[in-house]
Amino acid sequence: MLAGLGATVLPQGLAAGESPATAPRPGQESLATFDALATLGLASQALSGPPRSEIETAASVEPTPTPSPSPTPTPEPPVCVDDPTHPLYCIYTVVSGDTLSGIAQKLAFSGNASLSAAEMLAQSNKPDVVSSDQIVPGQRLRVPKQSGILHTVLVPESLGEIAAAYGVTAEAIVAVAGNNIPDADSIRLGQDLLVPDPLKLPQVATTAAPPLETPQPQETPTVQPTPAPTDTPEPETPAATPTRSARRTPTATPSPARTPRPGRASNFGFIWPVQGPISSTFGPSHPLGIDIDLYEDPNATIVAAKSGIVTFAGGNPCCSYGLYVVIDHGDGTQTLYAHFSSIAVQAGQSVARGQKIGNGGRTGYATGNHLHFEIRVDGKVVDPMLFLP
Ligand SMILES: [Zn+2]
Repeated sequence: MLAGLGATVLPQGLAAGESPATAPRPGQESLATFDALATLGLASQALSGPPRSEIETAASVEPTPTPSPSPTPTPEPPVCVDDPTHPLYCIYTVVSGDTLSGIAQKLAFSGNASLSAAEMLAQSNKPDVVSSDQIVPGQRLRVPKQSGILHTVLVPESLGEIAAAYGVTAEAIVAVAGNNIPDADSIRLGQDLLVPDPLKLPQVATTAAPPLETPQPQETPTVQPTPAPTDTPEPETPAATPTRSARRTPTATPSPARTPRPGRASNFGFIWPVQGPISSTFGPSHPLGIDIDLYEDPNATIVAAKSGIVTFAGGNPCCSYGLYVVIDHGDGTQTLYAHFSSIAVQAGQSVARGQKIGNGGRTGYATGNHLHFEIRVDGKVVDPMLFLP
C-alpha cells in the first residue's frame, strides 16, 4: 500500500498546520449553515444580496445573524507543530477526548495493512504510551512526518537489527532523508530514526533470569508491586509504600536521606537511583521499566544505580523519554533514567555508583514528576525490581 513511500512523501498539512482534507476546516460550520440556507433558497442572499423576487421571502425571515462563509472568529490552533531540531516528527498536544486513532485521523497519519495508525503512534511515544488509555490532555506526542514509527536507538544495535525488528529493509530506513544516515555504521546511541512502513512491532525482549555471574534473585513469574527483598527490616527500603523520613522543608537542599545509601546494594550491585513510591510497575501497561514517583521532591537528585560509562545524555524535552541518561555498566547491564529536568553528566563520562547524574522532572511526560527507570541485561529489558535491593 505504501510501497515506494520515500522520504519526500509526507502527509499533507502535517508540518504547515494546514488542515488535511479529512480534518475539520475553519469555516466548515459556517459552510454547513450556508448549505442549509441554500436549501431554503436563501443562499444567494447570504452571498450577494437577494434578487428582487426573493426580497419579500427574505424579509419575512427575521434578521438572523448573517451566515458568513468566510472568516471564523476563533482561529484554529496549530494541529501538529514542527520542531526544527527534530525534523522526523511534529509535536501534537493531546486535548480532552483524544484517542490515538482519533489523533491519527485528525492529522491524516495513516497506518498500513499490518499496523494501525494508533499502534504506530503508541510505539513512537514509548515508554509511557502504549495505548489510548495512557494519553492525557496536555501531553505531547511525537507524530512521524510520514507513515511509520519513530525508533530511538537505546542499545548498541545495527541498522540491520533495527530493520529486522520492524520487518523492513535497512535500505528503506536509510532512504528516509531525515534519518541522516550517511552509512550503515553511523547509527549512534540516542539517535531517533523514522522506520517507514513497518510490518511489525519490535518484540520487547525480556528476561526474568539474569545471566549474571552474581547470585540470582528468586524468579518471580508475575510482577510484584511490592518487592520482597531478602528480608532486611531497613527503615528506608524503597517499596510501593516506603516509609518516609522526616518532612523536608522547602528550602532544604537535596537531602542525603532521600537518595539510597551506597552501602545498600543488591546482589547485582544496583542501588536505588532515587527514593519514592513506585507509581508504575513493570508489566503490560508499562513494559519497559518502572516509574518512581517524585511528588514529594519533584526535582530530586537522581544517582547512578551502578558505576559505569554514560553512553547517552540528552533527548528532547518535548516527548517520549524527555531528557534522559543511559549508563553502560560494562557487565552486560545498562540502566536508563528518563524525564529529567536537568542532566548533570555527559556521554562518555564515567560515573560511580551513587553519583548524581541529574535532577528528576517531568520532561517528555505531562502527568507528573517521576523517574522512569529501566534496566537491560544483554540488551533485554528486565523488571528492575528483580535487580534492585
Ligand atoms: Zn515510565
